[in-house]
Amino acid sequence: MMTTAPTVFVATSDLTGHARGRAVPRDAHDAVLKRGVGWVPADLALTAFGDLAPNVFGSTGDLRLLPDASSGIEIPAAADAPGVLMYLADQVLPDGTRWSCCPRTFARTALADLKDATGLEVVASFEHEFMLPGAAGSAPFSFTRYRSAEPFGSNLVTLLGQIGLEPETWLPEFGADQFEITLRPSDALVAADRAILLKEVVRDLAARHGRRVTFAPLPDPDGSGNGVHVHLSLRDAATGQPVLFAPDQPGRLSTIGGKFAAGMLAHARALVAITAGSPSSYLRLKPHRWSAGGIFLAEHNREALLRICPTSTIGDGVPAEQFNLEYRAADATANPWLVIGALVRAGLHGIQAGYETPRVWPEEVTETELVGVPALPESLSEALAELTADRTVAGWFHPDLRETYLAVKQAELARVAGHDQRELCNRVADVY
Ligand code: GLU
Ligand code: MG
Repeated sequence: MMTTAPTVFVATSDLTGHARGRAVPRDAHDAVLKRGVGWVPADLALTAFGDLAPNVFGSTGDLRLLPDASSGIEIPAAADAPGVLMYLADQVLPDGTRWSCCPRTFARTALADLKDATGLEVVASFEHEFMLPGAAGSAPFSFTRYRSAEPFGSNLVTLLGQIGLEPETWLPEFGADQFEITLRPSDALVAADRAILLKEVVRDLAARHGRRVTFAPLPDPDGSGNGVHVHLSLRDAATGQPVLFAPDQPGRLSTIGGKFAAGMLAHARALVAITAGSPSSYLRLKPHRWSAGGIFLAEHNREALLRICPTSTIGDGVPAEQFNLEYRAADATANPWLVIGALVRAGLHGIQAGYETPRVWPEEVTETELVGVPALPESLSEALAELTADRTVAGWFHPDLRETYLAVKQAELARVAGHDQRELCNRVADVY
């Protein structure tokens, strides 16, 4: 990539969803794309708060961060802020072989296994909500709120377009100071890469505007939650045809889609340990927050863990091409590669184990009818225990990756032990 940026930043996303890496001068660009830059295995054990959790790697060992050329984005210079070229990388051993604990490799392998076993590919999109403090008193979804974010908002949409992240919608959300940005669906690995880059681009641009955003799942215990909703659909890799849509079946969900959904639901209590990774994530995952109020599949209902999204025929819209499942129990404290990898492994397990399509609750299902529907874990420690106990889910991770993940999360829990809800929310918002 031709660039005028003085540096090239090569990054991974760690287990806490933070992009970490190192920069090289522009003239090393081609060499770094070919050979990568050095990295340290123990970096995988960094917590969101910057501590190093106990880990098997210790002070020894070396890795390379090997950039994926197709992930590159250039944040242009503005005023006195220099530009930077940024790449996402796989973590490999010095001889170039894959590292068993690399989160990006985890996603790629899950997607490859799905394709090998079923001939299916995943199309995905991550929707992000965040708070941009400073829109005092404006109404949800209002033009006033929208304009209060200018010129940041328009600059963000323009920048995302320039760097190829394909912005779709930019909107003032329901909560105080809350906004949402959605990107167009893409190949699932690209979608996860984009989710990582998006957070960094938003933070970086906000800082250039003298503002600070937070993607924390619940910045204020009395306020709205920030979700990361993951939209998933499946297509036949050979023909490109979407395979989730079956207009005559319950919820218009195909048999293969039903099995895929069933896998996610059956293992949801363990999956959330990966998709909602912070101690404050579980304050968001409660009923009446339109986050995910229980483990069920429903048409068009925002309380469902898995929502069957609506389609539209306006302007010759084709339902089969729009039809997708939305997993709502993720947030920005998760690593998007682990999220995609774990959701895809769960779906593949549902297909291979021959799970039945779960009950599809109608859009207008009432709370009384939902009594008895399984609940999500109430805390991160409960979710971690579920992850350990669910041998299927635990088995998807190399033992070193799993143990490091658990250690990082236990260290984060220890850091906030004794905090009340407000202190906890503040502490997490400080680092997200
Ligand atoms: N803010 C809600 C959440 O925490 C989502 C609201 C919506 O966009 O449906 O997931
Ligand atoms: Mg939203």
